[in-house]
Amino acid sequence: MNEALSYVQPTAESAWGIYLGQIERVLPYLGHLARWAETLRRPKRALIVDVPIELDDGSVAHFEGYRVQHSLTRGPGKGGVRYHPDVTLEEVMALSAWMSIKNAAVNLPYGGAKGGIRVDPKKLSIKELERLTRRYTSEIGIIIGPNQDIPAPDVNTNAQVMAWMMDTYSMNVGATATGVVTGKPIHLGGSLGRVKATGRGVFVTGREAARRIGLPLEGARVAVQGFGNVGSAAAELFHQAGARIVAVQDHTGSLVNAKGLDLADLIPHVRQRGGVAGFAGGEAMADEDFWGVDCDILIPAALEGQIRPERAQRIRARLVLEGANGPTVPSADDILAERGILVVPDVICNAGGVTVSYFEWVQDFSSFFWTEDEINLRLDKIIVNALKHIWDTADRHKISLRTATFAVACERILLAREERGLYP
Ligand code: NAD
Repeated sequence: MNEALSYVQPTAESAWGIYLGQIERVLPYLGHLARWAETLRRPKRALIVDVPIELDDGSVAHFEGYRVQHSLTRGPGKGGVRYHPDVTLEEVMALSAWMSIKNAAVNLPYGGAKGGIRVDPKKLSIKELERLTRRYTSEIGIIIGPNQDIPAPDVNTNAQVMAWMMDTYSMNVGATATGVVTGKPIHLGGSLGRVKATGRGVFVTGREAARRIGLPLEGARVAVQGFGNVGSAAAELFHQAGARIVAVQDHTGSLVNAKGLDLADLIPHVRQRGGVAGFAGGEAMADEDFWGVDCDILIPAALEGQIRPERAQRIRARLVLEGANGPTVPSADDILAERGILVVPDVICNAGGVTVSYFEWVQDFSSFFWTEDEINLRLDKIIVNALKHIWDTADRHKISLRTATFAVACERILLAREERGLYP
């Protein structure tokens, strides 16, 4: 009875197509709840907005913006806003659906949402970026709010963009509403620990997974792709736990040092020079050789679609921790599974960020702020419990951690759907 959506044409390896394939895989484990599965294949609401702004030279430019609320069944929408020239409605739909899965997998009281503008922000001045953000916020203002849908930073957006969003929304409703976005500056209701939360979550899932497969962290060799917010924070925590960071790659180049890179020198180098290239404490290598580096743990923490079949064949790690969103294409995922390489999937591995976003939202509502230690402790506990439940599910059905994460999340979403019933 269900017609395919008319407004996207997904393929097997396009973002929404990959998501639909993941839903297909999980159906056998949903029991009677599979009856409601079609609700997962359709976003609840997709808003496309025109974002016109006056440029500094007096001309007018129009940009296409989106906010997709994939599911609001378990609570308000939650998910970031991305500024990138490749943003499309289909990509935002898939990212919003993955937020539904991630939030349910960690059992946060949220649905899933995502937003974006098709724009190259590097071509805009800071004032143009502010005008773009404010107009976009006003346009999507009809569906966001502290109890409706709470945006956050994603690729090319940051705490400053969140401050503009919070201010615009607050001006429009006539009251300061800090809880409308997360990832804000600390003195505007942001949370301690948010900046490193995603990397911390990657570390916690990695620590637990390593323990289960009998891989001691002391002396473990770790390779990290992407040395930005997520990759560098995860690398630091693994280093503190006694591991060696033997290779790193970012958009400027790739480095290797079998004895371990000195992070105390590398981190300031990246801050000053904009990337890892030129760091004297490691040997430069061809970018493609990064994938064949001898290591125990590999952390893709840069972009989507990085682990493709030919790279999956070369990987020598025992454990892959998906810090990035969607770093492994489905065909490569199958190769890693055949080769006995364990993958902790993005939908649980990088959920530390949204978990501390949840803490930020709770703190804003109560106007009572926690210490960084409290935040890190609560984050650790939530991620450990979520991963344990997922691992038990994987063992029970003999399925991958990815399918198990989807099974846990979809069960929660569809149970809520069933209990709420259909309106009217
Ligand atoms: P970031 O911009 O801070 O860092 C990105 C890193 O990737 C940089 O080191 C950059 O040099 C590197 N990179 C870019 N292009 C590359 C290329 N072609 N080859 C190798 N390296 C390349 O971004 P981030 O916040 O660390 O996010 C990284 C990933 O984690 C993204 O997929 C993002 O969606 C995901 N993620 C981030 C958060 C968060 O809280 N920041 C939360 C969940 C998921």
